[in-house]
Amino acid sequence: MSDVRNVIIIGSGPAGYTAALYTARASLKPLVFEGAVTAGGALMNTTEVENFPGFQDGIMGPELMDNMRAQAERFGAELLPDDVVSVDLTGEIKTVTDTAGTVHKAKAVIVTTGSQHRKLGLPNEDALSGRGVSWCATCDGFFFKDQDIAVIGGGDTAMEEATFLSRFAKSVTIVHRRDTLRASKAMQERAFADPKISFVWDSEVAEVQGDQKLSGLKLRNVKTGELSDLAVTGLFIAIGHDPRTELFKGQLELDEEGYLKVDAPSTRTNLTGVFAAGDVVDHTYRQAITAAGTGCSAALDSERYLAALA
Ligand code: FAD
Repeated sequence: MSDVRNVIIIGSGPAGYTAALYTARASLKPLVFEGAVTAGGALMNTTEVENFPGFQDGIMGPELMDNMRAQAERFGAELLPDDVVSVDLTGEIKTVTDTAGTVHKAKAVIVTTGSQHRKLGLPNEDALSGRGVSWCATCDGFFFKDQDIAVIGGGDTAMEEATFLSRFAKSVTIVHRRDTLRASKAMQERAFADPKISFVWDSEVAEVQGDQKLSGLKLRNVKTGELSDLAVTGLFIAIGHDPRTELFKGQLELDEEGYLKVDAPSTRTNLTGVFAAGDVVDHTYRQAITAAGTGCSAALDSERYLAALA
């Protein structure tokens, strides 16, 4: 059993690095798969983070993640910038296979693979991320005081983002590709009653415009094909998220939206010795601090599980 580790952590966002820090400080020598392309997680793609407690002047997303990484490493976490390509989590000893085909074994596994926001798939979208284009009103709304903003989508998230943003914005235009909303009645009514919110129906974004900063949108009416301009300096894309759970299908229980199910408030999944934390579980809060918080819970749950095995 000498090649069997105590704990393997899959994912390196705030949840993964926090789980790594706690398990490393508990002398469990965690092995962390950081991911081949996106080590550091979602915050590597943003600019300033103003709402992570402890940084009164804010901190750049990549710097925050570098700090978390270094802190976990300082206490002995072993970090691998590689993807996990398959897992067998069903037995007492779990196996995790990397891209080179090497099989790693552990008594416990913590899953923190996050979720991916859906994109419009337009050329300028990524380039202007953090420069007018956002996927999170709670994170970025404050930067858009007195500005004209578009929100794309017709579900509950889009309505929630729009009503939240209308507190700061000069105007909020919801662009939806159908002529009715998917959002719940209550959310719709709140949006309809808000004097700062207006709607563009049957329309999709044809072009995200701007060089260094977002300067406007070109919209296309999906029924007539007619193009129109919308002058906005903020674009919030609220068309859904895809949790990264493909690897775990058939082993870990998923909810109807594909997120991992845990026995809340614990981080235990349906398989003993397997814990999950962060955005791969959470479709409600989706914040760096909540991901870090549940990453801590997963570390403590795994510590207790391992202690009971000993
Ligand atoms: P993630 O950060 O998504 O990390 C998941 C990790 O898992 C990644 O490193 C990925 O590489 C890895 N991974 C996935 N699959 C595998 C695999 N098979 N093998 C190995 N590794 C794998 N929140 C705030 O609180 N404040 C903000 O200002 C803020 N701004 C944001 C700006 C943007 C542009 C975005 C996209 C999000 C923002 N958020 C913000 C939300 C915040 O980033 C997330 O809530 C948080 O990062 C979730 O953390 P996580 O650890 O669960 O997952």
